[in-house]
Amino acid sequence: MSTLEDICTELLKEIGEDPEREGLQRTPVRFHKAMKELTAGYEQTAEELVGEAIFTEDCSEMIIVRDIEFYSLCEHHLLPFFGKAHVAYIPDGKIVGLSKIPRIINMFARRLQVQERLTVQIADAISELLQAKGVGCILEARHMCMMMRGVQSQSSSMVTNAMRGSFLTDEKTRSEFMHTVTESTKENNPDNKCQSGDWKCGSEETL
Ligand code: ZN
Repeated sequence: MSTLEDICTELLKEIGEDPEREGLQRTPVRFHKAMKELTAGYEQTAEELVGEAIFTEDCSEMIIVRDIEFYSLCEHHLLPFFGKAHVAYIPDGKIVGLSKIPRIINMFARRLQVQERLTVQIADAISELLQAKGVGCILEARHMCMMMRGVQSQSSSMVTNAMRGSFLTDEKTRSEFMHTVTESTKENNPDNKCQSGDWKCGSEETL
């Protein structure tokens, strides 16, 4: 087997399907295209994505970009996990074009991932690119491998966070960020009372 198309045909046979039936005839071609798209992040770097969009700016206030949608594949099952990312940083003379933050997140998301590593990679990339005073990253995601199989825990989401610089050392900075994110989650899920109770955090901080 050499290509994703061949692999897909074998997969269809293996699960008891007939790759020749009408609905499946073009599935290997579509699968190949979809997998290439969903893993396109391997061919990019954060530096390339950001390019010239780093600007000198005399700003030392916290910049928060919240509710950034992302879609990724878990490396254990090759099933999707998806949710929202919230990123904040305190600049040290350099800021980045706002549209670049979602692009950085999606670049890392379009690789096989575990949520914990995805969170850390986003925080580290922004921290390194901007040499920021501090960076915070929170990811809240639902995992298809949990929802569709095994325990079938349909409503629970997983929350991970990575803090760098002043977000790690300054309690006030961290809680300002956490507070903004929690408020946003409440606004978006007014009926979901157990939201915060379901959250599990990646570090010592609990929302
Ligand atoms: Zn999984």
